[in-house]
Amino acid sequence: MKYYSTNHQTPDVTLQEAVVKGLAADKGLYMPERIHALPTTFYEQMPQMNLQEVAFEVAKAFFGEDIPADKLRQIVFDTMSFDIPLVKVSNNIYSLELFHGPTLAFKDVGARFMARMLGYFVGKQQNTVNVLVATSGDTGSAVANGFLGVEGIHVYVLYPKGKVSLIQEKQFTTLGKNITALEVDGTFDDCQRLVKSAFMDAELNAHMKLTSANSINVARFLPQAFYYFWAMAQFESKKYSLNNKEIVCCVPSGNFGNITAGLFGKRMGLPIKRFIAANNQNDIFYQYLKTGQYNPRPSVATIANAMDVGDPSNFARVLALYDNSHKAICRDIKGATYTNEEIADEIRRVYETNGYLLDPHGACGHRALREDLGPNETGFFIETAHPAKFKDTVEGIIGKEINIPQRLQDFMKGTKQSIEMSSSFEDLKAYLLTE
Ligand SMILES: *Cc1c(COP(=O)(O)O)cnc(C)c1O
Repeated sequence: MKYYSTNHQTPDVTLQEAVVKGLAADKGLYMPERIHALPTTFYEQMPQMNLQEVAFEVAKAFFGEDIPADKLRQIVFDTMSFDIPLVKVSNNIYSLELFHGPTLAFKDVGARFMARMLGYFVGKQQNTVNVLVATSGDTGSAVANGFLGVEGIHVYVLYPKGKVSLIQEKQFTTLGKNITALEVDGTFDDCQRLVKSAFMDAELNAHMKLTSANSINVARFLPQAFYYFWAMAQFESKKYSLNNKEIVCCVPSGNFGNITAGLFGKRMGLPIKRFIAANNQNDIFYQYLKTGQYNPRPSVATIANAMDVGDPSNFARVLALYDNSHKAICRDIKGATYTNEEIADEIRRVYETNGYLLDPHGACGHRALREDLGPNETGFFIETAHPAKFKDTVEGIIGKEINIPQRLQDFMKGTKQSIEMSSSFEDLKAYLLTE
């Protein structure tokens, strides 16, 4: 399968090139040239299959031409090794819990898959590939844990000293093995600048093979389609009675990678009637749906901070998927936007009336369904992270202490190991040249 750039100014590439490069040379995002619909027989069998089997069938439609079936099966089965249960919250609203992975957020799926796929391609090349990633907190933990122990790859996580929470820091500084944490005396922007300089430095690139694990990488983005199929498999497995209602899916959205993967699923025949993209106050997409104008603007900080995005990078993929048609996009996707107060109210309300504790991102998803579902519809939202990841915010809202899952507590017990450095590129370069 060939991959094209959404900017159409560079030649098409192979899957391997798309995965190793990440971003196209013309700064566009890679898209598969074709999206295969899955056969009716697959949809008939889906309710009897388990998560890994469902994911493998979807993965074959994307990657089957480029990776031998046994290798692909291994990558999928290793990636999808934790539960993704569909849990009933209220009468007609369900939560697809994507927080049962190593770092308790949905990004574990894409990060784990990409690590294994890159490991496969690297294995064919014989020399170690070095992943450089700058983080303001959560991306670093998902990427570091996703790549932990993957042969042929070393990960350097650059993070701003004193500017990430203790639990976030523990999630990527305590791992050891092929993960090195670089504690930069500066800001997140400094870390990003260092990574960019490293990719452009000829001497460094001659010394070591460098790549990024950016969230726009096709190997992080496409696997997110797996769990939309798995949600439908759970609905149809008679675990829950659908009573012939149509399914609506709501995705709390920031950079729009997650929802775009769901839209791919719909294109492959998944019977989801429509989608809702739930925004916080950074409602650039919501405004686009209303006006047809895409006006990026600087992000503002909210309590659903993983969605504080002012220029969603995957918007280009949404446009490509719908041939730039605002009308076609509006047929499949509706928008919603919530203030901090509305998000907090939703967390409190659902906790008190349904006994279900939402995180601030999932709260946007639940609220949009509650306000928008019609009488003949049933909805599920993607619960993108565990509420304990936002402990202080959530405890402040419900006025109670919450349980911290064992996996998070285990990270807290680990010993921090990091290499301190200044924010000057010369220091980073000197360090990497000795590696
Ligand atoms: C990354 C993230 C989002 C936003 O997902 P996109 O794919 O960028 O739209 C939502 N919630 C949480 C908890 C996240 O970490």
